[in-house]
Amino acid sequence: MNIRPVQTGPVYRCWVCQRPAAGIMDFRTAMGGPTVLDRYADYIGYLDLDRICRQQMHPSRVARLGNLVTPLHFPKGCTVEERIQAIQDAVQFLLEQPQENLADQMMREIARIIHLVYVGTIHPDKAMGLVRLILTMKAEEMEVRHEMSMVW
Ligand SMILES: [Zn+2]
Repeated sequence: MNIRPVQTGPVYRCWVCQRPAAGIMDFRTAMGGPTVLDRYADYIGYLDLDRICRQQMHPSRVARLGNLVTPLHFPKGCTVEERIQAIQDAVQFLLEQPQENLADQMMREIARIIHLVYVGTIHPDKAMGLVRLILTMKAEEMEVRHEMSMVW
């Protein structure tokens, strides 16, 4: 079985050096115009990587399913069909991620936020905002999973 790294956010990191990314840019914003992959736009994103990562050409393209992301690599000179296959393989992998695993990761993220409040690194209001963000992303991902199970 093909094992790929997965991140759940809300803070995403560079796959290579772990520097935090500023967020995820959606495919349409990154492309700035129509492309042959527009049908798959919802499942492609680009990590908004640190300047150092960009200079060192660390890969930013990801396949996404709600808040779940995994690296999306297009081999040099590959055809549109091969790209579509790569997207489908990556999204299929994300669909197969066990839900308990996701819940565990969210619990860890929330525990980390509580710890940051406890040690005084972030304000409780800020923590509530972050927890809300995690829960919203989770709800979106459940919706996407449901949709995907109907059409994919
Ligand atoms: Zn990096």
